[in-house]
Amino acid sequence: RRLPVDESHAPGARPVRGACFSRVTPQPLERPQLVAVSSAALALLGLDAREVVGEPLGPEYLSGSRVMPGSQPAAHCYSGYQFGQFAGQLGDGAACYLGEVEAPDDQSPELLRENPSRRWEVQVKGSGPTPYSRQADGRKVLRSSVREFLCSEALFALGLPTTRAGSIVTSDTHVMRDVFYDGNARMERCAAVLRIAPTFIRFGSFEIFKQADAVTGRQGPSCGCDEIRTQMLDYVVETFFPEIHASHTDVVERNAAFFREVTRRTARLVAQWQCVGFCHGVLNTDNMSILGLTLDYGPFGFMDRFDPDFVCNASDNSGRYKYRAQPEICHWNLARLAEALSPNLPSERAGPLLDEYFPLYNAFYLGTMRRKLGLLRKEEPEDETLITNLLQTMHNTGADFTNTFRSLSQILGPVQGEAADDTEALERATELLLDQCASLEEMRASSRPSMHPRELAMLVSMAQSNPALFHVLSDRAMLTQQLEKLSRLQELMETTEEELRRQQRENWSSWIRQYRQRLAHEYEGGSDVQGTWEERVRVMDSTNPCVVLRNYIAQNAIEAAEKGDFSEVQRVLKVLEKPFCVQRGLERERSAQRDEGAGQGEAG
Ligand code: AMP
Ligand code: MG
Ligand code: MG
Repeated sequence: RRLPVDESHAPGARPVRGACFSRVTPQPLERPQLVAVSSAALALLGLDAREVVGEPLGPEYLSGSRVMPGSQPAAHCYSGYQFGQFAGQLGDGAACYLGEVEAPDDQSPELLRENPSRRWEVQVKGSGPTPYSRQADGRKVLRSSVREFLCSEALFALGLPTTRAGSIVTSDTHVMRDVFYDGNARMERCAAVLRIAPTFIRFGSFEIFKQADAVTGRQGPSCGCDEIRTQMLDYVVETFFPEIHASHTDVVERNAAFFREVTRRTARLVAQWQCVGFCHGVLNTDNMSILGLTLDYGPFGFMDRFDPDFVCNASDNSGRYKYRAQPEICHWNLARLAEALSPNLPSERAGPLLDEYFPLYNAFYLGTMRRKLGLLRKEEPEDETLITNLLQTMHNTGADFTNTFRSLSQILGPVQGEAADDTEALERATELLLDQCASLEEMRASSRPSMHPRELAMLVSMAQSNPALFHVLSDRAMLTQQLEKLSRLQELMETTEEELRRQQRENWSSWIRQYRQRLAHEYEGGSDVQGTWEERVRVMDSTNPCVVLRNYIAQNAIEAAEKGDFSEVQRVLKVLEKPFCVQRGLERERSAQRDEGAGQGEAG
């Protein structure tokens, strides 16, 4: 509230100087209609979902088409690095701050620990243009809103830090969208999601001060940026990191402790994404929450078959934000945050804190992966190799990430005198995992290079005859990867279903042998073998979900909703709220999901 606000109400996209927020008016939607609500998320605001659903004006308020008396809606001005480039002024182009709600007294201690501010910030996303909308219209369509709504609540239920979604409202307002990036535009229905978080402040909120003239209209040391940035930093630390604020008298030490905590939370978040096979898709610094929450659900994706090079964003041509790059990218983003904070946190202090990132990340990752494998006793040096080999085996055999992990708890390990290399047990476990592997047709489909082989061959020969050009074609790594895919595809074209099955079997029985040998140590020295085993299964089945929001699941719900049937969105939400329970699931015949729906969010 103390931060500078642009009160001009001037409509339209424009540079905003001297302010961190602009007063805006959410644009009403035509005939807003409720698609679904999350009872748990609305309860954060002290709202009872049943009352909200029964209230005729509910969709009006939840979509920002009407605002509560006293609400002073605003759009936040931030900046950021988009795909590695500093982007100047960005901001809430489609989202709008509606206000803050005090946390009800009955909120659980865990929730309050995560949100010591004891109040929740409420935003509506899709409420029309703001000064930060650039060429876009500030609207969100039903498709991307269903995805954001479902995935926010799904990640929360999986135990990942995230912004929440209280409701999704559709309407009769339509906007033009380019759906398949092929020039075939169509009119789509507008929707609005109510987002909830302790705060939506992001790394980019601090980076806007790098653009001195954008903030104050003046340049140089007297531009006033230092004061505003310091004010924002003080606000963030005092409000959301009160323990850090209270335990430091020296302000640089306090800021260092704050940056260390942001680093820790970010490392933990990425480790959790990796462990559920989640790809964010647009890890620009403006999408990095200062609280370490998953923020901005655009073209995100959960992996089906494990592929470290999985890219879920169709406009990410170089694969900058592919699955296996996420940890490194978030470290890079933290370095940009450190730069933005450098006047408050000298770089010689930030450097060593940034160096803590990878050890932290590795510890979180290994810790979660060990639980996913049911390795609960003392850590062993070969645990990391066992995990790497598991992922490699999944990749080689085209195994489904989620289902493979879930089925591991059925591999009991050599209990009660059984030998680690017991052939019958090994055979049973192998059969179980073979069920998660891809067929030959599926393997071929996923090895198809995204580039036409002729085009690829041309680029490669150009690059070979002119090495300088190879550097100009900056996506050298991408070309190499495409070539690898192509040679794998050639292999697969020459192989048979039987031969593939034989290889898959060999791959899995080799890994399972290692796993069973490792599991034998879990039971060593303990007298309560049965108890150890039950505990192991319990931990695994509450760490490896049965369901995640796969693209085809979201796609089914979207298609039904577009036809006016909202029951599928509601049903999917219910299932995703209990991701560790075996339920009448969302799974269907594997053959029917093959190569379906690119499942993209909106561009931009
Ligand atoms: P994103 O890639 O979603 O992080 O968005 C990048 C920038 O584009 C941010 O400044 C957003 O506020 C803005 N933006 C995204 N979608 C829209 C939209 N539909 N209308 C206006 N601005 C948008
Ligand atoms: Mg964004
Ligand atoms: Mg977005």
